[in-house]
Amino acid sequence: MDITVDALIVGAGPAGSVTATLLADAGLQVLVVDRAAFPRDKPCAEYLSPAAVLILERLGVLGTLKDAGANPLSGTTVVGAYGSRLTGLFAKTGSPPLHRPTGLAVTRRILDAALVDAARSRGVTVMERTRVVELIRHRGAVTGAVIATAGGKTATVAAPVTVGADGLHSVVARWFGGVRRAPLRRWAFVGHFAGVTGLADRAELHAGTEGYAGLNPIGPGITNVSLVVPRQVARRARGDVADFFHSTLDRFDGIRNRVHPSGSLGPIRTVGPFGVRARRPVVDGGLLVGDAAEFFDPFTGEGIHSALRGAELASWTILEATRGPKPFSATSLSSYLRARRRAFWGKWVVERMIGYGMLMPRLFDRAVERIGRKDPMAHTLIGVTGHVVPPGAVLNPVFLTRMVL
Ligand SMILES: Cc1cc2nc3c(=O)[nH]c(=O)nc-3n(C[C@H](O)[C@H](O)[C@H](O)COP(=O)(O)OP(=O)(O)OC[C@H]3O[C@@H](n4cnc5c(N)ncnc54)[C@H](O)[C@@H]3O)c2cc1C
Repeated sequence: MDITVDALIVGAGPAGSVTATLLADAGLQVLVVDRAAFPRDKPCAEYLSPAAVLILERLGVLGTLKDAGANPLSGTTVVGAYGSRLTGLFAKTGSPPLHRPTGLAVTRRILDAALVDAARSRGVTVMERTRVVELIRHRGAVTGAVIATAGGKTATVAAPVTVGADGLHSVVARWFGGVRRAPLRRWAFVGHFAGVTGLADRAELHAGTEGYAGLNPIGPGITNVSLVVPRQVARRARGDVADFFHSTLDRFDGIRNRVHPSGSLGPIRTVGPFGVRARRPVVDGGLLVGDAAEFFDPFTGEGIHSALRGAELASWTILEATRGPKPFSATSLSSYLRARRRAFWGKWVVERMIGYGMLMPRLFDRAVERIGRKDPMAHTLIGVTGHVVPPGAVLNPVFLTRMVL
């Protein structure tokens, strides 16, 4: 079977579905393939920043998420390894009045299925249980891909642009030119629990001496519990994942005795290692979006926003390129790279600062204590992580000095 479309998108997570929706809205014929069937689970802390919520509102899916029980979040509490604590509230960021001063907690089962439904309703063809087998190239340019359905049928898809939105371990990124591995290689363990005590309408992040853990109230009485540890610690999970998960959580003073194994609502899902960045996010005939392009450490809750915003930027670039020759050249798609840099650069720096800061638990705890004590620094920091305050509000000598002195 041969299929010809205006855009082929590999992966129907937030990055792929939203890129597809925006291209279809502009009149393009779009095919999305995903090896999973939706709704599907995805290991994630399931926290959405206010900036991500704004994009979901623009897409018209916010009502669906609310009807399905998504929880508004007023901000985040961060707890250091030695008990220091800060709470930042989006509504108190001091920026011009926000259109939406709350983030959102919602399961990926609900969020991702809603985005796939939205894509379908806008005319996108979504093939589930279908994976990409290999890319097709002509004179060095990507001109489509071979796909395979669960039933074993293969098809050739021709498209002037192929978008890799296939997540953290993207095969498309590898085919485009490989990935860089960051020195910080962490693994995550994620579960849903009932009966977690002491929660407010905020996400909680607890830094430890060996990684960090998060609690996020994702629905009535249901909490997402995530644990992120370095690779050498994750190896201890090899015998019994649940036992490792709970015994490691017990080492966090702020979490001990709050998450009980008896409250487990499903399996503990494992994912890793993190810390990858595509060497070539744009090639002749293709580009990468979402985690396939770059993975953000979950500590700052940036991944979904970056997938959604990246989808907006990718779709604008592709629409611009449709005015030129096919397949779209890397040069005609290169404005996407510049737009990504403008959109994410400051956040990349803040994320790395926090990620490496946590490797020095004493210093990190001290910074949390200083920021928590000096109003309004906590609101500013959490506002930056939620993309409601520009990164420059943190990345300046005054804030950085007050953070440690
Ligand atoms: C432990 C953890 C916690 C996190 N917590 C948060 C958080 O709280 N907030 C936040 O904003 N971000 C968080 N993130 C990051 C967030 O999950 C990702 O950034 C986000 O899912 C990226 O979306 P995506 O569409 O790029 O990829 P994904 O959501 O991973 O979607 C990729 C899709 O591609 C499909 N696919 C893969 N390979 C193929 C193939 N060969 N053929 C066809 N289909 C394929 C998959 O089935 C999947 O549906 C977290 C990540 C982790 C690991």
